[in-house]
Amino acid sequence: MLRYVDELMPIGEFSERSGLSAKRLRTYAAGGLLVPAAVDSASGYRYYSPGQLLDARLIDTLRAAGMPLAEVAGFLRKPSGEQLDLWARQLRIDATQRHEALERARRLLAIEVPPLGGTDDQRSGGAAMSRLSTASRVDIGRVRDSNEDAVMSNDRLAVVADGIGGHPGGELASAMAVALVGAGFTGRSLDELQASARAANRAIWDEAVRRSELEGMGTTICAAGLIDDGRVAILNVGDSRAYVFRDGSLRQLTDDDTVTAELVRRGDLSDEQAVHHPHRNVLTRALGIGPAVELEATSYPATEGDRLVICSDGLHRDVADEDIASLIATTDDVQAAADELVELALSSGGRDNVAVVVAEVCA
Ligand code: MG
Repeated sequence: MLRYVDELMPIGEFSERSGLSAKRLRTYAAGGLLVPAAVDSASGYRYYSPGQLLDARLIDTLRAAGMPLAEVAGFLRKPSGEQLDLWARQLRIDATQRHEALERARRLLAIEVPPLGGTDDQRSGGAAMSRLSTASRVDIGRVRDSNEDAVMSNDRLAVVADGIGGHPGGELASAMAVALVGAGFTGRSLDELQASARAANRAIWDEAVRRSELEGMGTTICAAGLIDDGRVAILNVGDSRAYVFRDGSLRQLTDDDTVTAELVRRGDLSDEQAVHHPHRNVLTRALGIGPAVELEATSYPATEGDRLVICSDGLHRDVADEDIASLIATTDDVQAAADELVELALSSGGRDNVAVVVAEVCA
């Protein structure tokens, strides 16, 4: 029960504290599972009480086990071990069917997307001689039993995506993101890169709405693209990262979209506290979790010899920036650099999937 009005949390704060997205909380409210403790009748704002945090986690845990909303409601009315046993049997049957569906998705994704934008000769602009020499590697890691990281690279683009929402949704979301951004970006402009990410966002969202088993899927995206004016466009949503190595030093080009990174930027949390904070994995933005997405995109003048490292958090959480820098400094070949960065993450525990693209700006 609510004791003090000042304990009430608006949906954003409750979302942060529970780790559940606002969209998901609204779904639970609409289904009668987790009705806000208070709603401002004038503004329509919803408020939750601290006592609802446990309910929220229980509902989400059952949802993570694949239990439909209607069955979760029934379980909450009369929780029992037998109910969970029944559900476990149902899961084994469903798993077989889902594996078959996933194989169909894999075959759909294997359809080659033709490169767009023509050859270097057809590109316009004074700096069109530049290209990227890229190499990538993805590894499932040493702990996870599925890989939801994806990469895509060519001579003008390097992309990493880290899927969220579990298997199989996260895997599909990251694969769609890299394929659609890769197909949509031809090197024309920063706007073109942003438009391709917006199109990917919409496609993932539509797919999640269309197929209930993919509900809640989403992905990070981090892309570096060479544009015809001789600049490198950088686009980021989520907690994957882009770095540039130039003149012997490594510089991070992107800001993490996480609750903890925002608290650090506001001065409310130290870097050290952020590493252990319970919300360190909570993303404030991701691709595919809403019909539209706010994008962070910048560009900087490319210099021949610049080396870009685009990576998922499986690299930057386990490998210090200094170690990334010294490896890039001492490894000439881009493929060897990508391989060895992944090996560093694996030897540091490999707690997550890890994806790396190394891209060098060439004349
Ligand atoms: Mg990850």
